[in-house]
Amino acid sequence: MSLVVMKFGGTSVEDPAAINRTAAIVAERVAMGKQPVVVVSALAKVTDQLLRAAACASKGDRTGALAISSRLRSRHRDTAAALVKNPAELINHIDQKFDSLDEILRGLAAILELTPRISDLIVSYGERISSRIVASAFSERGIDAVHVDARDVIITDSQFQKAVPQDAIIEKRAAEKLRPLVDRSKVPVMGGFIGSNEEGITTTLGRGGSDFTGALIGGALNADAIEIWTDVDGIMTCDPRVCPDALRVKVISFEEAAELAYFGAKVLHPATILPAVKKNIPVHVLNSRNPSNEGTRIISLAPHCKSPFKSIAVKKKLSIIDVVASRMLMTHGYLKEIFTIFDKHKCPVDMVSTSEVSVSLTVDSNDKLPAIAADLSQLADVKYEGKKALICMVGEDIRGQNGIAAQVFAAIRHINVRMISQGASEINMSFMIDEDDADEAVRSLHAAFFKDPDSEIFDVEARKLAVEPAS
Ligand code: ADP
Ligand code: ASP
Ligand code: MG
Repeated sequence: MSLVVMKFGGTSVEDPAAINRTAAIVAERVAMGKQPVVVVSALAKVTDQLLRAAACASKGDRTGALAISSRLRSRHRDTAAALVKNPAELINHIDQKFDSLDEILRGLAAILELTPRISDLIVSYGERISSRIVASAFSERGIDAVHVDARDVIITDSQFQKAVPQDAIIEKRAAEKLRPLVDRSKVPVMGGFIGSNEEGITTTLGRGGSDFTGALIGGALNADAIEIWTDVDGIMTCDPRVCPDALRVKVISFEEAAELAYFGAKVLHPATILPAVKKNIPVHVLNSRNPSNEGTRIISLAPHCKSPFKSIAVKKKLSIIDVVASRMLMTHGYLKEIFTIFDKHKCPVDMVSTSEVSVSLTVDSNDKLPAIAADLSQLADVKYEGKKALICMVGEDIRGQNGIAAQVFAAIRHINVRMISQGASEINMSFMIDEDDADEAVRSLHAAFFKDPDSEIFDVEARKLAVEPAS
């Protein structure tokens, strides 16, 4: 039987109607003879709200923190009551969870120190509770669902808030905890995003990490497919919220999708592709609000595309750092010293460009910048500036196409470009601009490069329907 890991994001479980749609999608897979393993996010916006509650408590605002928790409790109770005929047990479970969350928030409001470890514990409630509700809703609708605590399967290191999964242990745990259920045709339902270290302390995989959980489980169980169910028709030619003309990309390579995710296309968590690539498992991105749409297929080798680019990603809230040192730059080991400082602060660098006297780097961490700049100023003059955005255009073999850079920069000639990078990867061309110009740049680039899209790769029909509505 074909095993499919189905991951549903926050909007796919945001309220009773969404959870019912999700149940119908899973039931259909079962009816097709597939064996689903389900991974769910917290209900939409819950992670943000839990983080806000934690922030309030850590500043001593106990009342504010408990008020947020109380609103979340009501929302989860109401959702459960709308989905399950006899909800007493489920609601009791929800209450117990919120009671213990409130205890943590009260403790935090007394201690006034929010550590990454406590933050992970607090946000974990979102997925822990959502997965219980979804499992009960599935059972109510005749799906043979069994709730599994993700923290028993997703074992990570102890880097709270960005924990690194331990593949070998996850594989072993999946064999112990999930495989026997699958073998008995049960449908395991677990929360995404959360895990635990080997001592059993709760960790998380970083924001948007439920996609990653889906892929890790898919890899560990050697699934036949991984499905990422979200609120758009698939990977689009750009964020449809920025440009309503965005087209669905029907098929894209692992490499291109990874590049897009890494450079900010929120539709996929950047690490999602890795476990799938390792085992060559196809990933499908699908819309839970429009399940009949065929979505995007991510496969190892995508067919040739006539258009130069597949999609445009944007990463905002970046900073640019200029390090200027006329005497030392070309001396041996200088770049190494610069990178050692970023490494010391555990700050990844997105893009680098060097000239004879200066090095410019871009990073996506604003809070670490003052400390990094202080260390760098021991070596050279340092300037940094925030509110920058990186635009990343992804397509196969960009390097092999003459005149492409000229076309890109002609399309955004009215926008000031601060830094350019092309060549590090054959499939990506990126440049840095002011954040305020980002949406306009995406729209201009989209208009220039997706005027006449290749119908083998892009869903051109959807655009035609939009332009010529049925009479
Ligand atoms: P989920 O909660 O299902 O994980 P996310 O909000 O994390 O969903 O990701 C889906 C969102 O990603 C879409 O609503 C869309 O606005 C945004 N997005 C950004 N870039 C793209 C893109 N290239 N294609 C599709 N969606 C994108
Ligand atoms: N709920 C988590 C977040 O909002 C993980 C996820 O939804 O992927 O970041
Ligand atoms: Mg997401």
